[in-house]
Amino acid sequence: MDVQAVSRIPGVMMEVCKIALLFSAVLFADFANAACPSIVSRSDWGARAPTETTAMRTPVDYVIIHHTTTGSCSSRDSCSRILRNVQNDHMNNRKPKFSDIGYTYLIGGDGKVYEGRGWDTQGAHAPNYNHRSIGISFIGNFQRSRPPSSQLRAAQDLIECAVEKGKLKRDYKLLGHRQTKATDCPGQALYDIIKTWPKWTSNP
Ligand SMILES: [Zn+2]
Repeated sequence: MDVQAVSRIPGVMMEVCKIALLFSAVLFADFANAACPSIVSRSDWGARAPTETTAMRTPVDYVIIHHTTTGSCSSRDSCSRILRNVQNDHMNNRKPKFSDIGYTYLIGGDGKVYEGRGWDTQGAHAPNYNHRSIGISFIGNFQRSRPPSSQLRAAQDLIECAVEKGKLKRDYKLLGHRQTKATDCPGQALYDIIKTWPKWTSNP
């Protein structure tokens, strides 16, 4: 090997290293986003505009799980119809009236995530926790029946996504709504499931 060839090796190695680094950065970015499920936007489900919004400081400390106590749904159309009904109920019938649908996100029986108020707006779903929590509501009534596995998976993916996006602290606490006030929510069957999830805590 002549001297010139030897002196070229470090340069070639540097290039190889740069390419390898770039490649792993791309892989890692993909991996980090892999947890984020696609989200059906407010305009896609036909949401009304909020009458008022309050910004939320993130990352927050809690995830609070709810159920809507409505019928269940298994298609974008049927889930969207329920979302519009829930939003109308929150904005028309609550005393005082809510400025928008109360939850941060909702999960359909179709395994899709539906945008409620979104990451950066304070919700209205659990008094004393609204300013420091993400409220995720399962569409349906889960007092006796369990949600389908695709619905459970979507909720877990959304929680992981919240951590990856910096909207939720890594050492967050997971609660059922019933741990914050006297209510059956999120239903006994769903509550029994979320109690087995890693960050659930018996002590809010
Ligand atoms: Zn609830």
